[in-house]
This record gives sequence, structure tokens and C-alpha cells, in this order.
Amino acid sequence: MTVGEALRASNIDRREARLLLAAATGFSEGSVLAHPERQLDAETESRFLEMSARRAAGEPVAYILGHKEFYGLELAVNPAVLIPRPETELLVDLALDRNPASVLDVGTGSGAIALAIKRHRPKARVVATDASAAALEVARRNATRYSLDVELRHGRWFEPVAGERFEAIISNPPYVVVDDPHLAALPYEPRLALLGGADGLDAFRVLAREAPAHLLPGGWLLMEHGAGQQDAVRALLEAAGLETTASWPDLAGIPRVSGGKL
Ligand code: GLN
Repeated sequence: MTVGEALRASNIDRREARLLLAAATGFSEGSVLAHPERQLDAETESRFLEMSARRAAGEPVAYILGHKEFYGLELAVNPAVLIPRPETELLVDLALDRNPASVLDVGTGSGAIALAIKRHRPKARVVATDASAAALEVARRNATRYSLDVELRHGRWFEPVAGERFEAIISNPPYVVVDDPHLAALPYEPRLALLGGADGLDAFRVLAREAPAHLLPGGWLLMEHGAGQQDAVRALLEAAGLETTASWPDLAGIPRVSGGKL
């Protein structure tokens, strides 16, 4: 089979097919595009057809490839972690704007947010927690790959940072509502990283209530949330005594991050 025949046989999105074929062959996407006549050996052909069958069955490309780009980092991912989303880069931007000397990322997953912050603020002390040991394994691999000195700690919420305070606390917690139809489109990602309880706000209740005890005076709590959750999240921040609360839109114009200051 040639490259062109393999792409046609795959029956998935063309761009994704090129990406998977590039991974299967080791050629660049451009080279795959430029040489449809190139002959694939049997092993490469079956590797590609297996990958494209997984994609056709709905598995995310990032899990098939085993990595995903986020904030200029090529991060390892597997089904133990949420696949980093482009809109989450807003959370990194907002944290970097504040130049915190110390940062806590609660529920770090692949380590995406914590590693991006550490990369751009190498002098900051960055601590990242996760309730999932399997997720922390992925974060550790990513930290090692980029030689980024982020302290990874295992435990729920603030348990691993008892008695410690930070200049910024960042989180992209689970916030999808259990009966959200959108959830059906995400069967491959960990429920622990997605489900925010009956109204989607369970994680924000815990984070808002417990963050003030872990913030230094003037420190910010910044959290990603779902479309339409900004008013409820800001009400929780205000009830927790945080000030100058605000919400910021993602690139699609949807309020995506809300925060407040101690
Ligand atoms: N942004 C993700 C989605 O809706 C959800 C991530 C999360 O719950 N933190 O696909």
C-alpha cells in the first residue's frame, strides 16, 4: 500500500490521518503530504491501520500518539490524565502575569499547568498535587523530560500541603455536570478529572473554602470552569472572603477562568 492509499483507506479526518501516518512512519506531516506515492512496508501499514481504527472508534488522537502539545511543551499523556486543552493556556497566562514566587497547582494531571509555569518562571517554587498516583507518574515523566523542578505530591485537594502557603493557587478541577450530554463525547478520559458532581461545582466549593488557608496575603486563587459557571464560582470565591474577583474569557469568548485575591 502507498501513503496515498493508506490515507484514503483510513476513513478518518484527513488532517488526523496525516498526523497518525507521520507517527507510524516517522516522516513529517509535510513529507507524508508531499509523497503520496511512497510505498509503506507491511509493518508500518498495519501500525497505521490499527491507529486509524482506534481513532475511527472514537479514541482521542492524543492517547493514540501518547502525547499532546500544551503551551509549547510536548507532554506525554495516557488515559490516567485529562488531555490538556488549548483553553487551559489562559490559566497559565493569568498565573504568569502575576509573577508569583510560589505556585500550587491542585489536581495537576499531566502536569501541564505547573510545568508551563515553571518553564517560564524558573525561579518560582512550584508544587503540584494530584489524588491519582497514576496521573502523578505521567506528570513526573513530563517534568523529567523537560528537567523542570516541580514538586509533585500525592493526595486529595490540599492534604499534601498542610500548613503551607503560596502566592498563587491554580486549578483546572473537574467541573462537568454528571448529566451533561457533552460527557458522552469524552468516554476515554478519567471521570476523576471531569465530573464535578450534580451541579458541576463540587470542586469549586472545596477549593474556595480551603484555599484561603494556603494563600499568602495578596495571593490569587485562579480556577478554570465550564461555560456558564462564572457567576456561581465567583459567588463561592466571595463567600470564602476573596476580593477583587473577576472572570476572564477564553479564545472563543467564553468566560473560562475566575479568580479572587486574599
Ligand atoms: N474542558 C473539559 C471539557 O469540557 C473539561 C475539563 C474539566 O472538567 N476540568 O471537555
